Amino acid sequence: MSAVILSGKELAETLQAEAGVLAAEFRAKHGIQPTLAAVLVGEDPASQVYVRNKEKACEKNGLGSRLIRLPASTSEQELLALVDQLNRDAGVHGILVQLPLPGAIHTQRVLDAVSPLKDVDAFHAENVGLLVQGRPRFLPCTPHGVQQLLIRNQIETAGRHAVIVGRSDIVGKPMANMLVQRGPGGDATVTICHSRSADLPAITRLADLLIVAIGKPRFVTAEMVKPGAVVIDVGINRVETGLVGDVDFESVKEVAGAITPVPRGVGPLTIAMLLHNTVKAAGLQHR
Ligand code: NAP
Repeated sequence: MSAVILSGKELAETLQAEAGVLAAEFRAKHGIQPTLAAVLVGEDPASQVYVRNKEKACEKNGLGSRLIRLPASTSEQELLALVDQLNRDAGVHGILVQLPLPGAIHTQRVLDAVSPLKDVDAFHAENVGLLVQGRPRFLPCTPHGVQQLLIRNQIETAGRHAVIVGRSDIVGKPMANMLVQRGPGGDATVTICHSRSADLPAITRLADLLIVAIGKPRFVTAEMVKPGAVVIDVGINRVETGLVGDVDFESVKEVAGAITPVPRGVGPLTIAMLLHNTVKAAGLQHR
């Protein structure tokens, strides 16, 4: 039997609209429009699209947005000076530095420089630490989108074995940290796999919930999936035929109980959660 398709597109629209309502309430109460500043260094085509989509989502849902474009030749010092300026700008509540940065810039140093109260990507060590301790300030956008997709589709995580393939700081590790916390969308038993994991298929076949974020087109095949498992494909890979995930959708949908498509799966949820974090950041700074 074919799997239930977990679409992220409609849910993303709902979540974005919810952020818009919160932003309007905040504005009505305090006279302040929650505002996101996005910093784009260089001309990376994918980054240009991402940043433009974030700007559009802010505008559509009544949040303020500022886009600061810098040339690829920008030095680390110049970028750090801009981040410092945005940190001190009371009209900016969230700061997003679009990655990847040009090679000459030390990415971690720049991310560390963003004020933890404006760190809507939740990359700052202080925010990562709070998440690990189970008292998050901001939830990282892509894992938060995945968690909302699970919760709002009534997919139980408590007591289930979640296997996450990929250990990046952006997706795999925070996803694991969230699923292992107590409460809704948590209480899972979590295994994290990576490129050095031995016999990956034997581990993925144990998953009730399989979350894949590795950046390898159609890597996870039907033989790697337990019948009835929930499969969440975070991967976005551009191939000749268009965008595909890290999961071989056509074969896996015949085995899985539920599966996210690519595109229109996890991808659209990330921006929705970014809007939520921006509204939350405005609230934290107002206090
Ligand atoms: P990343 O930083 O490149 O990390 C990839 C991870 O996958 C690493 O931990 C790597 O292991 C692991 N890996 C690579 N090949 C593997 C293999 N053959 N077997 C097992 N593990 C393997 O990637 P990322 O930033 O997390 O992104 C992953 C994918 O998600 C990409 O396609 C990206 O475009 C997509 N993504 C989507 C969104 C969204 O939907 N909004 C957001 C972020 C990322 P090692 O650590 O051992 O190298």
